[in-house]
Amino acid sequence: MQNEKTNRIKEHILFCLILTISALPTILNASCNSEAFFLNIFCSLSVTLLLTGFVMLLPYRWLRWGVFTILFVVSLFELAHELVYHGDLASAGYIRSLFMTTPYEAEGAVGRVIMQHLTFIVILAIAYLCATALFFLTKPKIRKQILVLLCDTIMLTIVTLSLLLGYGFETTSKAVLHHPPLNIYTQFAEAYRQIKERENGIAKPIDDYSIMQRSSEQEQELYLLVIDESLSYERLSINKQYQRPTTPRIENNERVVSFSNYYATGVFTMYAVPMLITPTTATDFENNYSAPTIQEVYNQSGFKTYWITNEAQIVNDGVSGYIVKGAEQINVHCDIDMPGVVDSICSLHDKVFAVLHLWGSHQFYLNTMQTTSRYFPDVTTSKKVCGADIYNNSYDNTILYTDSLLAALIEVTERHKVLSTILFTSDHGEGPITDTGGAHGYTLPHKSEYHVPLIVWYSDEYKTAYPEKVANMIKHKDAPVSADNVFWSVLNMADIRIDSTLQQDGMSVFSDTLLPHRRTLLLPNGRQIMQLDE
Ligand SMILES: [Zn+2]
Repeated sequence: MQNEKTNRIKEHILFCLILTISALPTILNASCNSEAFFLNIFCSLSVTLLLTGFVMLLPYRWLRWGVFTILFVVSLFELAHELVYHGDLASAGYIRSLFMTTPYEAEGAVGRVIMQHLTFIVILAIAYLCATALFFLTKPKIRKQILVLLCDTIMLTIVTLSLLLGYGFETTSKAVLHHPPLNIYTQFAEAYRQIKERENGIAKPIDDYSIMQRSSEQEQELYLLVIDESLSYERLSINKQYQRPTTPRIENNERVVSFSNYYATGVFTMYAVPMLITPTTATDFENNYSAPTIQEVYNQSGFKTYWITNEAQIVNDGVSGYIVKGAEQINVHCDIDMPGVVDSICSLHDKVFAVLHLWGSHQFYLNTMQTTSRYFPDVTTSKKVCGADIYNNSYDNTILYTDSLLAALIEVTERHKVLSTILFTSDHGEGPITDTGGAHGYTLPHKSEYHVPLIVWYSDEYKTAYPEKVANMIKHKDAPVSADNVFWSVLNMADIRIDSTLQQDGMSVFSDTLLPHRRTLLLPNGRQIMQLDE
């Protein structure tokens, strides 16, 4: 009996040790930028002790080892995420997008970086498996030596990994549940809650709204909302902060206006896009499922509405589906096919509104024009798929591609000689581009993830019909605005108003009375909010 007790204590210590060591880089990174360094470490360690303590309550040895193995594997998932995001913790948004995305995307997000750190992961896994096998097979006498050897191996791997990461980050919550090793479980639970909330929200009827009679009825109208992907403001040469000419075609167009102080309200597509096309914001995101979409409002105003999307976006982040409601969906194989589609639908109907959802600058930055000048080597020409230079070239090439696309859209629209505006923005930006590429959705987002472009183009016919709207929009081009303004601006640019308490005149950049508002960002866990103007 005494022997059984001693064995159990030994087992508990072993579990605790392995789990603590496997979570060490996460624990250290979570604590090193925080003021409460020791408190953080204490929280994580006591939670680990408690967690393994519960495992010890299980009656059978095989069950204890089974449950412990699951805990260990899950802690490796957090470690893998940390490698992709350079020391960042997993978030509900990341977990959701990983499960909703294509295998290619998932492989890209996790696999790409893991491949480069595979040696360490493999060493860690092999060390654990060998030790477990040996522990059961050998005599008690040698077990102690094996334990020491195992701890040394794992410790060495972890220290190397911690040094490799070398970044550190701040957690957005001080709650114990958001600390490793528990964070990963909290985020899984949060992801599940959000998926349920989405299902229930989609089942609810659309909020009641009606449209006011438009003051001016024009013969032919074409309005486009172009939503790009992962494009940061600072990388567009039109904004005069970047040396390379990445937007040569649109920056010479005198009817193109670029806003300098526009922020996204989410850093994952599945959060950011719904907030662009509905009146919901980061503070009431859960209402987006039953809120009227911009295309529904246009539809009610007598427009034929379309949602033109790159096939790659349909599965990416699960954005399609409910969000397209109120529009006819057209799928294209490449973003550059979209101007042709706009050309044909414009010939078919007098009044058209279309949302163009691009693949744009999404990783791995494969959108590249073969005909325009571009930067080499990039991911399509280099055999070595790593290195910051290659990823930076590729990212810039995607912007050149989008620049050509916008120029082509303007050309098509001009040819039809209709009353028209194109409002272009990106759902969110991209974090720092490093040797392993770029990513977005960091726990504490970088400015390049939410400072994104907002660009408006208008036709001559539009300026003649609405000179005051054009003047107002140009006047506000340096005002602090965000994705919260897009829904109202896109409606106001066609002079559409909602006849209810919903209407917010001060939110349109085309309005004379644009009012300042508190800019907020929905963090990657899909629950917390960051104030952007403080
Ligand atoms: Zn996105």
